[in-house]
Amino acid sequence: MAFGKDREGIGRMNLRQQMRRSTKRPPRGTGGGAPHYVNQYRPPKGAAGTDTIRIIRGEYQIPRIDLDRRDFVRDANGEIVHDSAPHWQYVSYYKHQPDGSGKSCISTEGWLGAFKGKAEPCIAADWYWWEWRKRNETGNKTSPKSFRRSEQYALTVLVMAPFYKVPQMDAQGNIKKNDKTGQPYYNWVKGSKRGNDEFAAGGFERKEGHLQHWSMGFGHWNTLLDFSDTLSRDCRSCHTQNAIEDIALICQECGEAVVEFATTGLSEEDLAKMRAEEVTCQACRTHGYLDDVIGCTSCSNPERATIFDYDLEVHTVATGGDNSNQTNLMIARAIGPKSIDAIYGEDMRKPLDLPKILAPTPLATQEQIFGKPPEDDTPVRQPVTTGSRA
Ligand SMILES: [Zn+2]
Ligand SMILES: [Zn+2]
Repeated sequence: MAFGKDREGIGRMNLRQQMRRSTKRPPRGTGGGAPHYVNQYRPPKGAAGTDTIRIIRGEYQIPRIDLDRRDFVRDANGEIVHDSAPHWQYVSYYKHQPDGSGKSCISTEGWLGAFKGKAEPCIAADWYWWEWRKRNETGNKTSPKSFRRSEQYALTVLVMAPFYKVPQMDAQGNIKKNDKTGQPYYNWVKGSKRGNDEFAAGGFERKEGHLQHWSMGFGHWNTLLDFSDTLSRDCRSCHTQNAIEDIALICQECGEAVVEFATTGLSEEDLAKMRAEEVTCQACRTHGYLDDVIGCTSCSNPERATIFDYDLEVHTVATGGDNSNQTNLMIARAIGPKSIDAIYGEDMRKPLDLPKILAPTPLATQEQIFGKPPEDDTPVRQPVTTGSRA
C-alpha cells in the first residue's frame, strides 16, 4: 500500500540517517581560526564521577560526497549539494613529541582530502603521508610515526553544573592580565553539582551551565549513535517512554511502503540497515532514504526521541593496555525524554558556531607548529598527488 504524505522532494533525512551517513563521509576544511582547544569539553575519566550534559542539536551544512566517483555530488546547475546535519565534522592531525607532549591542528586538506590527488594543501597531511611512505620504504611499521590523523565529530554540549568565572593564573600563581587593559583573563570553571565547593566559597561570579564544544573520534561517535538508537522507542513529543510503534518505512518519492512492520519477515539487522541507508524502491525505482511512519500509544504527534532529548550522565573509561590512552565513552544514565530544565537560559540552548571554532589551521600556523613539510620525494606544498595514499 502507499501512504499519502506531503512530499518536499526526496533526499530528506531524519536524524538517524543524517548522523549515520556522516560515518561514511570523508571530512573537509576552509578558512582560518582561533585555537580550537579553548573551551573544549572532555568527559571526566574513570568511574569516580560523571558529568550531566545535554547535547544541543545544531544545523550544519555538509557537502554530499559520491564515494564511488570520489567527488562532490552536484545539482543540475553544477552547485555542490549539501546535507543538513546536527553535528560538524573535520580532520585533525596530532603530533606527539618525544617528551610525551603533543601538538595538534585542524586539517586544511578539504572535504575530499581522504582521496588521493583530491586534497588541498595541508602541511600536517604532507608530514603524515611522508612518514607513511618512509615506513613503507623501510618496512619498519613503527617509525617514523609521530603524526596521527583522526576524523572528528563535533557537537555542542551544555554542561549542567554551576560554573564560576575564575581568573587565569600563571605558573607562579599570579593572576594573568591583559598587558594593554590591565584586566585579568577569566575562564568559566565547572564547580561541583551541589555548588558547595571552593569556588562557591571564593565568591566568584556564578552561572548555571556552560556551553562547550565536544569533539570525538569514530569510537565515541559510534557509541553515541548506537545509544541514540536505543532511545528511539521513546516519544519526544509527549515525553513518554516506550510509546513509539513502528508502522512502515515508505519511499519518499511515491509513498509506497517498502516495509510494513505488521507483516515483514526481515531481520532486525536488515531493518536497521534500511532505516539508515539509501534503498531502491521497487515500485518507482527511486534510490533514496526511506521515511519512517510511526505511531505513539499516548499522543497523536509521534516523534522518535534522540540523543538530543535527554540529560546524559557521561564519563570515559580506559580500554586497558599500558601504552593506550584509548577510552570508551560511557553513558551511565539518560534522563528523559524531557525539555531542558528551566534554570538554563535561552543562551544555553543554542548550538555554538562549530565551523568557525573548528576552522582549519592556516598553513602558516601549521608551518610554525610542525616545521616546513619534508622535501625529499614529494613536491613541497603540493596536494598529495604523488602520495601513496590508499
Ligand atoms: Zn517509490
Ligand atoms: Zn507521543
